[in-house]
Amino acid sequence: MKPSAKTGDTEQIVKRIQDLGLNVHLSEGEAHTVIGVVGDTQRLDRSSFEVMAGVDRTVRIAQPFKVASREFRSTETVIDVQGVQIGGTGTVVMAGPCSVESRSQIVETAHAVKEAGAHILRGGAYKPRSSPYSFQGLGEEGLVLLAEAREATGLPIITEVMGVSEVQLVAQYADVLQIGARNMQNYRLLQAVGQVDTPVFLKRGLSSTLQEMLMSAEYILANGNYNVILCERGIRTFERFTRNTLDINAIPALKQLSHLPVIGDPSHGTGKWDMVGPIAKACLAAGADGLMIEVHPDPATAWSDGAQSLKLERFADLMAELRGLSSYLGRPM
Ligand code: PEP
Ligand code: MN
Repeated sequence: MKPSAKTGDTEQIVKRIQDLGLNVHLSEGEAHTVIGVVGDTQRLDRSSFEVMAGVDRTVRIAQPFKVASREFRSTETVIDVQGVQIGGTGTVVMAGPCSVESRSQIVETAHAVKEAGAHILRGGAYKPRSSPYSFQGLGEEGLVLLAEAREATGLPIITEVMGVSEVQLVAQYADVLQIGARNMQNYRLLQAVGQVDTPVFLKRGLSSTLQEMLMSAEYILANGNYNVILCERGIRTFERFTRNTLDINAIPALKQLSHLPVIGDPSHGTGKWDMVGPIAKACLAAGADGLMIEVHPDPATAWSDGAQSLKLERFADLMAELRGLSSYLGRPM
C-alpha cells in the first residue's frame, strides 16, 4: 500500500481477497502496509488490484515460503518475550540445563545464569531422546520447577513441546515453546503451535535444508502465530569428531531469506563444551540475534548432554567475553 493509503483502502482489499477464498496476512510497517495473499493465487489478476485505491504495487513472491520471506517483510521481526526483545538491536542469551532434573538444579542454574547476564532460562521437561531407555524428562513436574525458577529469578522460560496433545499444557507454563530438531517437520505440531499466542523457537532439523526450515516456519506463521524464532543447532555431516556441524552459513543465509530472528546453538552444534565458546563467538560474528547455551552445575553428572554443558563459572567467563564481542559488533547484550 502507498504510505498515503487509508485504513478503509486496506479494508476494501482485504475483503476482496477474502471473498476470493484466499488468506490474508497483514504486515503493518512504519512506512507502509503490506497485504500478503496466500492460497491458490495462480488465476489472480494482479492488475485488477493495482487500480484499487491506496495500492502502490503488487509483487509475486517467488519463494515457496511467503510470510516468512524477506519479500513479504523487509524490516526485522522483533519478538517480545516478557520484555526481552529478540531480533532487536541487542544480543539475547538463553541458557540453562539440557534437562530439568530437580528443584535445586534448575533454581541454582537459573540464579547463576541470570547473575552472568543471560536473559532467558532454558530447560527441557519433555526430552526427545534417541533411545527409549534414556531419561525422557520430568514432564509436568519439570514445567512446575521451571515456573518456580522463573518466579525466583524473573527470567522468562523456554522449554520443548514434543506432541500436539501437550501444546496447551506446555503453553500454560512456557514463555517460549521450543520445537526440537527431530520435530521440525512434524506438520501437525507446527500447526498446533501456530494456533497459540506463545512465541515459538524452531530448531533446524538434523538434515534439513534452509528452505525446508523456512517452510516449517511458514506452517506456524500461516496458522496465525507470527512470533517465530529460527535456531541453527548444527546438522549431520560426514564429520564425527563433533556431534553435529554448526552450519555458520545458515545464519547470514536465513537473515537474507527471512525477517525472522536467528539464534545459534553452539552446544548442540558441537557437542563439546570446550568448543562452545569459539562457536558462540562465530555465531555472533556471523550476525546471529542471540545464542542458546547449555549450562549445568555439575556437567559430569548431568542426566542429558553433560559433555556439551558448561559449568556455571565457565558460563560466566564466556558471558564476559561475549559482552565485549557483542558491543564491538554493535549489538550489545
Ligand atoms: C535441546 O535443546 O536440548 C534439544 C533436544 O535440542 P535439539 O532438538 O536441537 O536436538
Ligand atoms: Mn540438549
